[in-house]
Amino acid sequence: MKVLVLNCGSSSIKYQLFKMPGRALLAKGMVERIGSKRATMVHQNRGKKHEHDLVARDHEEAITAILDTLMNGEGGADDLPGPIGAVGHRVVHGGEAFTGSVRIDDAVLASIDKMAQLAPLHNPPNLTGIRAAMHALPEAPQVACFDTAFHTSIPQVAYTYALPYDLYEKHGIRRYGFHGTSHRYVARRAAAILGRGKYEINCITCHLGNGSSITAVREGRSIDTSMGLTPLEGVPMGTRCGDIDPAILFFLNDCGYDIATLNTLCNKQSGVLGISGRSNDMRTLLEEASRGHQRAQLAIDVFCYRVKKYIGAYQAALGQVDAVVFTGGIGENAVAVREKICDGLAPLGIHLDRPRNDQVIGKEGRIDTGDGGVAILVIPTDEEGAIAEDTYQLAIA
Ligand code: ADP
Repeated sequence: MKVLVLNCGSSSIKYQLFKMPGRALLAKGMVERIGSKRATMVHQNRGKKHEHDLVARDHEEAITAILDTLMNGEGGADDLPGPIGAVGHRVVHGGEAFTGSVRIDDAVLASIDKMAQLAPLHNPPNLTGIRAAMHALPEAPQVACFDTAFHTSIPQVAYTYALPYDLYEKHGIRRYGFHGTSHRYVARRAAAILGRGKYEINCITCHLGNGSSITAVREGRSIDTSMGLTPLEGVPMGTRCGDIDPAILFFLNDCGYDIATLNTLCNKQSGVLGISGRSNDMRTLLEEASRGHQRAQLAIDVFCYRVKKYIGAYQAALGQVDAVVFTGGIGENAVAVREKICDGLAPLGIHLDRPRNDQVIGKEGRIDTGDGGVAILVIPTDEEGAIAEDTYQLAIA
């Protein structure tokens, strides 16, 4: 069966086409600038990249163009004949309602719509993409995979904010957590690497990319995570501030910054970009720092220090830890960042092996000294593959 995975943003759609079972990637690509006069498509299959402009005034036209390319164009058709059997959608916010992936029906659509209150930037385009895909492929089962689902196992003690309790009851103000598909995938993979069952591992998974989050996993289930009501909380990110004293916002508001400005400031102008004044991109910061740019170095130092603190906190929450896992663009590739994060963690049983660390870039590998302490693993994430797997399982059920 061919399974299409869609990740719909406000003006872009990323897609991957898999052959299932087995997750063989047949083609992938992205349509950008949907709604503008000139949208663009980058399509990859059989190691070749094709780029062209197209007309995509809305998500429906973009999805039609994607399907056309996949079925009739350069991509996929002759790798595996036949129609697309199912479509899996990445949905950012599933609230408390969705503890796993689900087949989409009217009730699911209504819930995703309702959850848009909590994720106004993400759920509406996710929903638009789902509706467009349902229209274009009415025969194919459609599945929603939620970033929040893996974290619905977080206990009340960890998801409750110390605010008036009726804000939770009235408005659903609580920790939800994100990147769940990635944390779940790497936690399961870590268990497999260590020869354990998927519910036989305690680990701390560090998804470090443009957005970053850390999760504490007990017996295969999320028990705490650094992102909260929204993906703004936790460690500093490319442009997001992560944890700050909330009174900073009241102070700045008194100084004349309005709420919309503060929202942009915290989400788009902060993080390692804000500290360095240079870039949100870790590669650039590492290069700049090596040339002596002090605030690029400070941004890297703050990022690593804050990730380290979460690892310590989650070790305390878990009691016993089998593995620390690094994933995401930074976690998979940035050797120096992993080294700095693990520096000084030997008293917690976390011993990084430098030569091994230096060798594991963009691939799976074990980078601890192997002296019986906590395993340190690098595991490339595969959110789309995990969505394809869930979609296939629900489609054949
Ligand atoms: P997203 O959250 O958008 O999916 P990614 O997981 O792709 O982001 O991570 C992007 C981050 O990974 C960027 O900060 C980028 O600089 C960083 N990164 C990618 N490759 C490397 C590398 N070789 N060394 C250091 N950082 C890297």
